[in-house]
Amino acid sequence: MMNTIKWPGQQELQAWRHDFHRHPETAFQEHRTSARVAELLKSFGLDVHTGLAGTGVVAVLKGNMGAGPSIGLRADMDALNVTELNQCEHASTHAGRMHACGHDGHTSMLLGAAQALASAPDFAGTVHFIFQPAEENEGGARAMIEAGLFKRFPMDAVYSMHNWPGLPVGTAAVHSTAVMAAFDIFDLTLTGKGCHAAMPHLGKDALLAACQLVTHLPALIAREQEVHKPAVVSVTSFNAGDTYNVMPEVIKLRGTVRCFDMPQRARIEQRFRDAISATCALHGLEAHLDYRVSYPATINNPQHAEVCAEVLTSVLGEGKVRRDMVPSMASEDFAFMAQECPGVYIWLGNGEDSASLHNPKYDFNDANLPLGMRYWVALVGALLKDGKLPA
Ligand SMILES: [Zn+2]
Ligand SMILES: [Zn+2]
Repeated sequence: MMNTIKWPGQQELQAWRHDFHRHPETAFQEHRTSARVAELLKSFGLDVHTGLAGTGVVAVLKGNMGAGPSIGLRADMDALNVTELNQCEHASTHAGRMHACGHDGHTSMLLGAAQALASAPDFAGTVHFIFQPAEENEGGARAMIEAGLFKRFPMDAVYSMHNWPGLPVGTAAVHSTAVMAAFDIFDLTLTGKGCHAAMPHLGKDALLAACQLVTHLPALIAREQEVHKPAVVSVTSFNAGDTYNVMPEVIKLRGTVRCFDMPQRARIEQRFRDAISATCALHGLEAHLDYRVSYPATINNPQHAEVCAEVLTSVLGEGKVRRDMVPSMASEDFAFMAQECPGVYIWLGNGEDSASLHNPKYDFNDANLPLGMRYWVALVGALLKDGKLPA
């Protein structure tokens, strides 16, 4: 006999979200958020495990229709070091920190789904509700995997979603393969020989060399990479010198590399190193490069993506699910989970007039709370109805 789902209402979902929004916590510091998540999950009657990678939480729900596949639904809980400029009643109460990426909404939608599914677990198999720390920069997903996420809780597939400014509310986008780029970061120190600015021949001009290197970097993409494989190298910080009449000895650069293809990623890194070596040889400099391979590309499983798109259409309506959007050059640490088993990461429209992600006036759109919750519940229904996942 099928149970009747007890859906949390808009008011309840919104109350959770606004509470998280007022109390934003950054990477691995999500103690209050994590405690609240665990408290709510326990109140729904779920089997709750805390402390994975510090603040990570996993709740387990077994279906009442017997054995079947094991899946994971994942939300992120962390906020950013951004000072909120919104004046709303639920604005951040912590100076310098805010939920500028909507993870407060992601957490609340998954909590709603957990409550709904716990009230009527009419499926065959097991659902894991994964609440992860530190999505922004710090790789909380990787930390949870290293802490034994998939060993303690074996899963056959894993799913996630992100709100997407620019897409209308009530619409979604599903990519069949690549959805978010890989991301690396670098710190480069070039050391020359400082001297009087009036006598540059007595020094080694690291500043001139750094400028040449920066202008050459786009050519590593535009003239060396296949044009149909998107890639970006951006220098985002350039620090040198303090006064008018001194050639600085040390130049510090920072930046990032983004692409989707892993062999290409290795090639770009190698050619970046070659360009630095050549520049140093030409100008007589020394270089110290700290190149940090960060997140892999997020690649959806095509068969599972098809199911997610069908489920989203059933929730949002015909014509509301885009399948034609290009991937984002931004990155996402769900990529680590999608490397462990088939995964799908979808975008849920946050509104055409939404401030962009990470903007101090951004806010998660509350109209999405029931939509995201219903997507999760419908997805579980579609995936765990007959004992097997998409081939
Ligand atoms: Zn973000
Ligand atoms: Zn985010």
